[in-house]
Amino acid sequence: MATQSALGYKHPCRYCEKLVPPNSNVCPFCGKVNPLGPLRCPKCKNPIQRDWKKCSNCGLSLEITCPKCGKVTFFGNYCDHCGACLVVICPHCKTEQPLGSDKCIKCGKLLK
Ligand SMILES: [Zn+2]
Ligand SMILES: [Zn+2]
Ligand SMILES: [Zn+2]
Ligand SMILES: [Zn+2]
Repeated sequence: MATQSALGYKHPCRYCEKLVPPNSNVCPFCGKVNPLGPLRCPKCKNPIQRDWKKCSNCGLSLEITCPKCGKVTFFGNYCDHCGACLVVICPHCKTEQPLGSDKCIKCGKLLK
């Protein structure tokens, strides 16, 4: 007899595959952000898939070069090869933002 237990049902983290509580923003095991749910385009937040080369909505290229290891990786939160966090912090206002943009999403200053 299967009892319904939607409450407390856990999902595997996409990075370490340990079970984490639903709606987790950070995996409590490996500490990576966004362990659950669909991947989203960093630009328009359209749901995307790992094997896509471009966002189906805005056309943003979903392949980027990791700043750490120099390999081409999917434009997710972390590099597939070295695990580096693919997020840059604006040196001016300290806002976190995805790679790929030249200017800060908040203060608009150049990131380089
Ligand atoms: Zn994890
Ligand atoms: Zn997009
Ligand atoms: Zn890397
Ligand atoms: Zn800024």
